[in-house]
Amino acid sequence: MLIDDEDIVAQREHSFFGDVINYFDRAAKFTKYPQGLLEQIKFCNSVYRMRFPVRIGDKIEVVVAYRVEHSQHKLPAKGGIRYSTAVTQDEVKALAALMTFKCAVVDVPFGGAKGGVKIDPKKCTELELERITRRYTAELVKKNFIGPGIDVPAPDYGTGPREMAWIADTYAAFNPGIDASACVTGKPVSQGGIRGRTEATGRGVYYGIREAVSISEDMKKLKLTPGLAGKKVVVQGFGNVGYWSAKFLQQGGADIIAIAEYEGAIYVPKGLDVDEVFKHRKESGSILNYKKAKNIKNTNDALETECDILVPAALENQLHSGNAAKIKTKIVAEAANGPTTPEAEKILTQKGVMILPDLFLNAGGVTVSYFEWLKNLSHVRFGRMGKRYDEFINKTLVESIEKGIGKKLDVKAKNVITHGADELDLVNSGLEETMIQAYYEIREIRNKNKNIPDLRTGAFISAIDKIAASYLALGIFP
Ligand code: NAD
Repeated sequence: MLIDDEDIVAQREHSFFGDVINYFDRAAKFTKYPQGLLEQIKFCNSVYRMRFPVRIGDKIEVVVAYRVEHSQHKLPAKGGIRYSTAVTQDEVKALAALMTFKCAVVDVPFGGAKGGVKIDPKKCTELELERITRRYTAELVKKNFIGPGIDVPAPDYGTGPREMAWIADTYAAFNPGIDASACVTGKPVSQGGIRGRTEATGRGVYYGIREAVSISEDMKKLKLTPGLAGKKVVVQGFGNVGYWSAKFLQQGGADIIAIAEYEGAIYVPKGLDVDEVFKHRKESGSILNYKKAKNIKNTNDALETECDILVPAALENQLHSGNAAKIKTKIVAEAANGPTTPEAEKILTQKGVMILPDLFLNAGGVTVSYFEWLKNLSHVRFGRMGKRYDEFINKTLVESIEKGIGKKLDVKAKNVITHGADELDLVNSGLEETMIQAYYEIREIRNKNKNIPDLRTGAFISAIDKIAASYLALGIFP
């Protein structure tokens, strides 16, 4: 058995990658695959650690960065790029591994990867960020760690459409060609991005939670009524994933009673208006002092607010052995990657808390990234060919019905029936279908065997089964 030193350390000591390995091992026990195959699926295939110089002001600064391809059982490998001073090799490996399993859970035909650049984007000017992003991309090009059929990055913590546009442009400069824009997803729509990608992870979080709370049998065990209406929700992290999750959950009828950011938290027992808070933060630079809410000075206290659904949407290790016993929620909805440590998971599970695991719940981003990649390779916007034709057929049908019954249909209903699907309709519909399908798959796996403790294990088993099937069908190259 060949395992590198880092993997041994991760197994022995507390590390994020070690946590993912433990979750994997727990699930692997419920499968019957050969040990060697499980090891191939579990560990990271390629780890690229780089250092490169960047001119910042009149100084030269050395930036440390990573790209990890956890699995290439399907190509391209796929995963976001994180900009944070907390980036480590261990973290990037863990996130890359989660990407492999996440793609498998939602049937996105990609391997898993992740990138990290150890900088504080809040302390960089736009020009410095552009220099760092372009140089990082050039380093990936040099070592063949990026390309439409090789490895396709996307946004993650600290990055967004702007950085993705710089990556696409830099890649195209080295590899001109008609498919170059498929080297990265999460781009602005003007640069080959797809409508609905920015909000996709939050929308997927919403679909996942909505589906979970709709099942009466499961809600009864939590002493909750089925449905989102009136559910009290606390959200940690008000960035891309946190904001959109909160917004869709509010639209779905839930009350967002607290939002936590790194500078503090706000609390309104009756629920706050997510867009008003967003506007307030944009204008004042902080979520604190929002006029309709009470400030919570210590942001971590917000996690302990009594609620029905707690949505950690910031970073990993937020629910840990130190605070898990004080968490007063019925459901933890893991919008962030790795927000719950295994120790916290044990405490929460003993308290009867249901955990909707990250590798399922935040898969909306990669699902819509897959749609963007397909769009880039097919060079046509979804809905472009069929929209008007569908509208013509539907309109003709409605007119025939009206003629037949001798009565005009309600205008609102008529508009819904005759509308032809555009890109956003198709993206949202594909995302909704993906999240619902995946939820029932992992729930069924959990329910099939009473020894399977939770949905996370169900999701890992689902992923292992699919990846193992792929390897077994491929065969092992001599
Ligand atoms: P982001 O940078 O847009 O937002 C993160 C927010 O969390 C920031 O506003 C930051 O200030 C806040 N934050 C940081 N530490 C905090 C703390 N201790 N308490 C409260 N708030 C804190 O990042 P994002 O893209 O929203 O990513 C958030 C999480 O979701 C990460 O774990 C990421 O890996 C995961 N994720 C993101 C995507 C995506 O499409 N962006 C997809 C899947 C998973």
